[in-house]
Amino acid sequence: MTYAQMLALARSKVRPVQLGEFDSTGVVAAVLEGANGKYYAGVNIDLACGLGFCAERSAAAAMVTDGERRIKRFVCVDVSGNLLPPCGACREFLLQLAPENARARYLVQEEPEREQELAELMPLPWFDWKEKE
Ligand SMILES: [Zn+2]
Repeated sequence: MTYAQMLALARSKVRPVQLGEFDSTGVVAAVLEGANGKYYAGVNIDLACGLGFCAERSAAAAMVTDGERRIKRFVCVDVSGNLLPPCGACREFLLQLAPENARARYLVQEEPEREQELAELMPLPWFDWKEKE
């Protein structure tokens, strides 16, 4: 899949649903390409009291359920279809799933396409993921 195809898939998964006064889902969507060559989609689930998780972690959960932890590439879009970088929690989460994920690339800009490695967002590791590469 090209990045354009990954973006189209992510954008097709954005389906905002207000679950309650403080609860919503489907506002953000992500697609991960696993090292196994498969693609995994996920959406955010935001619930009251801080429960819930981002689209990247939702997609990662589907990937791990399928037996893969390593990510080649990923994209994330907001409710308007605009690209989003991973939040701090997702950066840490994806990195801790597998040290190789430091080299996972995500799309920063669509036109012209520009990607970045997850490691570039984590310049000061607090654990030894760099030594395991
Ligand atoms: Zn996040």
